[in-house]
Amino acid sequence: MNKIIYNYHTHTSRCGHAVGLDEEYVIKAIELGIKRLGFSDHIFFPGLSQKGVRMNEDEVDGYLKSIHQLKEKYKDQIDIKVGFEAEYLPMFIDEYKDLVKSGKIDYLILGQHFGQFANKIDIYKEDVIRYALDVKGAISVGIFTYIAHPDHFLLGVKKWNENCEKAVRIIMQACEETGTPIEINILGIREHRPYPSKELFKISKEYNVKYVLGVDAHKPEDFNQKDIDRAFTFLKELDIDILNLKI
Ligand SMILES: [Zn+2]
Ligand SMILES: [Zn+2]
Repeated sequence: MNKIIYNYHTHTSRCGHAVGLDEEYVIKAIELGIKRLGFSDHIFFPGLSQKGVRMNEDEVDGYLKSIHQLKEKYKDQIDIKVGFEAEYLPMFIDEYKDLVKSGKIDYLILGQHFGQFANKIDIYKEDVIRYALDVKGAISVGIFTYIAHPDHFLLGVKKWNENCEKAVRIIMQACEETGTPIEINILGIREHRPYPSKELFKISKEYNVKYVLGVDAHKPEDFNQKDIDRAFTFLKELDIDILNLKI
């Protein structure tokens, strides 16, 4: 049977578009045989609210407390960590660096869903080179444990084109140089999104990069064997091995 022993990409209902109790995620992960579970809900924007997308800053303490309680309660069955999935946004990056330094969280993963955030979200659309340069910029900051869905930019692209390949090469080069792993995103498989992209992962094999699987759970039942099997089919087709990541 195909098995995953860790998953560091788990959301909670605080983001406003995930459902279920924190504990239900833990129970489902244990049932699936996961040994190391990381919560990485969408990070808050300091001083700003983005309803339905992420928790507010005043919910952070409750989030950390809840996960720490579960860590203690289930410590004999599963090793629980807590962090965030964060965009690399220059306006917030210093606060995120401080958060990592504070020791309150165990890790950050990069989820570059958009570039700037002012009054409205700036999504990349066809400007995939800018996406790649932002991911490269994020990597250079040195606070991200891995890159979630490095192919997320494909949501804004009508058709794979030569700029997509250029963008992928920029990202892979940066990942190779820094030893930053990239994620094969199981939510993308589950929802038939344009990612994970075979084109991207084929190119990635020309580089010395490491791979992780991320469930990207938004409901407890996202921890299920059927999705794991589909992810392993993807891995097999591309002849990709998964890194044994331990945070
Ligand atoms: Zn989400
Ligand atoms: Zn994401």
